Amino acid sequence: MTVNHFEHLKGKNCIITGGGGVLGASMAEALAAAGMNLAILDINPDAATFLANRIAGEYQVKALGIAANVLDKKSLEDARNVINKELGTIDFLVNGAGGNSPKATTKAEEITPGMEGLWENTFYGLEMDGFRQVFDLNFIGTLLPTMVFTKDMIDAGKGGVINISSMNAFKPLTKIPAYSAAKSAINNFTEWLAVHMGKTGIRVNAIAPGFFLTNQNRFLLTDESTGELTPRGNKIIASTPMGKFGNPEDISGTLLFLLSNLSEFITGVVVPVDGGYCAYGGV
Ligand code: NAD
Repeated sequence: MTVNHFEHLKGKNCIITGGGGVLGASMAEALAAAGMNLAILDINPDAATFLANRIAGEYQVKALGIAANVLDKKSLEDARNVINKELGTIDFLVNGAGGNSPKATTKAEEITPGMEGLWENTFYGLEMDGFRQVFDLNFIGTLLPTMVFTKDMIDAGKGGVINISSMNAFKPLTKIPAYSAAKSAINNFTEWLAVHMGKTGIRVNAIAPGFFLTNQNRFLLTDESTGELTPRGNKIIASTPMGKFGNPEDISGTLLFLLSNLSEFITGVVVPVDGGYCAYGGV
């Protein structure tokens, strides 16, 4: 057996959705460092273009920044046409776009006696449009790009899809039912699609990041005015055996491993990158 690490990934074309975000940008950088050409898709075109230009200069790879909405099939098809023209066929897809919103977050962690009159702080106060928006962004926003971007892989008889899940997929966190349900659906879909595509040469896996301080959760984990950890932030640190938040770069090794042929008999798994959070029973 020869282990050539990630040499064979050089020159391959990879799409990353939500690539302009904190974890997306870090993953994009790791892919570029391995010599892969990138299409960085984001609903925020400035973030995607800025990152693409920086990465192309720094790693001597091709990198495109493309405005695309993971909930709009036409916008994804347009992006695919640009990618096919500028980079060629698509080898890999990383479904990174996702996030939570205050509109899909309950104010109270649980219903307690004496709460009568404060139902808007609980499950009963959730706004359906906010709930649907978060569920769709995370789940449909993974499903649709997979539908649009894996056809080249089917033709080539090889390829890889990496979905980005979360700790919420294994056990829901309080306050964020839409996000939890959607990430759980991503785990289920990862297994389903891995089976469905088992004989195509396309492997489908997921990474479940633990807790990383980024734009999507800063409002829950830190106090806006003081920057101090909220009680929820402290609880998370106490539930993470390694006693800290992750650094975005902590995801890179798992990402490259799952895309590379070092993992060529692995499909349908969700790998936690969580400082031990999943392993800890809380006592
Ligand atoms: P982020 O908010 O920094 O990045 C998300 C990116 O997705 C943003 O650039 C945003 O513009 C883009 N986006 C939003 N809606 C979009 C749409 N409709 N179409 C295309 N792009 C869209 O968040 P992040 O923390 O870097 O999260 C990246 C992924 O990691 C998400 O799926 C998130 O759920 C997941 N995750 C994050 C953490 C964490 O602790 N930060 C933990 C577990 C999972």
